[in-house]
Amino acid sequence: MSEVPILKETTRSTGREALRNNITAAMALAGAVRSTLGPLGQDKLLIDDEGRTMVTNDGVTVLESAKVEHPVANMLINASTTQDRIARDGTTSAVLLSAELLQNAWELVLQGVHPSAIARGYRHAEEACRNHFEHLVIKATDDHMLAAATTSLSGKIHQAMQHHLAALAVQAAKAVVEQRPSGPLADPTRVKILTQTGGSMTDSALVTGLVLAKKRVSDRMPKQLPSGKIALVDGGLERKELMSNVKLNVSSTGVLESFRQKEKTVLLEQINHLVDLGVTLLACKEGIDDDLHAALTEAGIQAYRRVSRADLDLLARGTNATLNNDVKGLTAADVGVFIKSSNERWNGVMHWIVETEEGGATFIAKGSTNEAVGEVERCFADALGVACQLLEEPALLPGGGATQIALARHLRRFAEGFAGREQLAVEAFADALEIIPRTLAQNAGLDPLDTLLQTVAKQTTDGSPNAHFIGLNVEKKQPANMVEDGVVEPLRITRQVLAGATEAALSVLRIDDVLWAKQDPTVPELPEED
Ligand code: ADP
Ligand code: MG
Repeated sequence: MSEVPILKETTRSTGREALRNNITAAMALAGAVRSTLGPLGQDKLLIDDEGRTMVTNDGVTVLESAKVEHPVANMLINASTTQDRIARDGTTSAVLLSAELLQNAWELVLQGVHPSAIARGYRHAEEACRNHFEHLVIKATDDHMLAAATTSLSGKIHQAMQHHLAALAVQAAKAVVEQRPSGPLADPTRVKILTQTGGSMTDSALVTGLVLAKKRVSDRMPKQLPSGKIALVDGGLERKELMSNVKLNVSSTGVLESFRQKEKTVLLEQINHLVDLGVTLLACKEGIDDDLHAALTEAGIQAYRRVSRADLDLLARGTNATLNNDVKGLTAADVGVFIKSSNERWNGVMHWIVETEEGGATFIAKGSTNEAVGEVERCFADALGVACQLLEEPALLPGGGATQIALARHLRRFAEGFAGREQLAVEAFADALEIIPRTLAQNAGLDPLDTLLQTVAKQTTDGSPNAHFIGLNVEKKQPANMVEDGVVEPLRITRQVLAGATEAALSVLRIDDVLWAKQDPTVPELPEED
């Protein structure tokens, strides 16, 4: 133990021991999510400190809710969260791959290979994979896009809903895609998701335009507006705003009365300002005083109060309006345009529907219970992420382990160009990639090794230029052409899985000294796999 005072209270593990502990933590973490991979993956029941439950087979949800204290396990969880943010999918794969890379590295360390040589080999291998993608990708057609969106939902919701949601997601992505000089931009956050409990999941639908569960401040205001101008206010049209910073010395009732009158005049002037700007539609983040409703109605304005900031932002993007703190400050340039604004009652709740030039779409998630609605909402968001990615970068890779097997085969040939230890590391990287098809096989109740060998053999002996389409279709329980079977995934997901998992594994390999401030430096205990 060190004599440096600051280290007195810490437990320290160094060199191999540190690496072994860290790798054990990574493997434990991978063990916790392994059984969720793929469409036949099992669900996990998560129970939080307060006894609330949630059923999920989403790797990142499992990991983020696990109370993990091991720093290395947390590094892998971060990698998985990054994966979720960048690619919206592939989180389980990222954790499995990083743990497998570490496990294989450990075996090389036992054979006397230094972690830095392994790190170099892994880096070369990852780069070689990245360069090889261009030989594997297929260009995404509309049919492929639908297939990829459906693949992202496999195992998460029943089959009829997979197709329904995937089709709506593709439609929604197309409604928000913008052509920019740098290329197409499809931002999934431009699609508004509205939830409604009651009814069946299959009633979930997509509406063009922005739908908000809001009613206009007065029923006497026009219910339908033809195209016109819209003003967005980050504040409100209220008295209390005028009152701030004003100290009133009330000497007689007349003073108060005339002050109130004055206030109202100021507010009415603001309405006149809106009329001058030609505004017929108004949305405020805060309130609109009750006694202004009549004046607004008279001015032919349809007005909404207490509109959330997020919705105001969506409206701003759709109508090209600029948010302003108050009405007084609005200029002609701040005002936006809309095509139609209407009010409709759905299931007894009033909804405001705004159609705009810039498109925009609202997905209405329905289901009989809150849980069902949540499931529909999450699945739609996943499929939408895939559809948006493909509109931006229309490149796909075959799923079911086909791509990982093809990359592993490529790497084994590539490894021959290296001498000695780095060659071993490149080969170890290739072996690690096969964790994906092996785990898919295992979760389908097949023998992992036999199935892997069978699939690799089929790819190797196929001889056609599309040999790399052959993967394991877990529904057929045998090797198959994954592109024909519609099991395809965006290139961006697989590329990010590889980059993220390699990065995480390399940062663990670099550690050779672990200082624990706590007394109990144990590896977290995660559920055992059978
Ligand atoms: P992740 O969190 O990594 O996205 P998933 O549980 O979503 O994990 O599983 C994704 C994996 O399942 C991908 O490798 C994908 O190719 C594979 N997959 C999806 N459908 C099939 C199928 N029908 N047959 C084989 N593999 C499939
Ligand atoms: Mg997935």
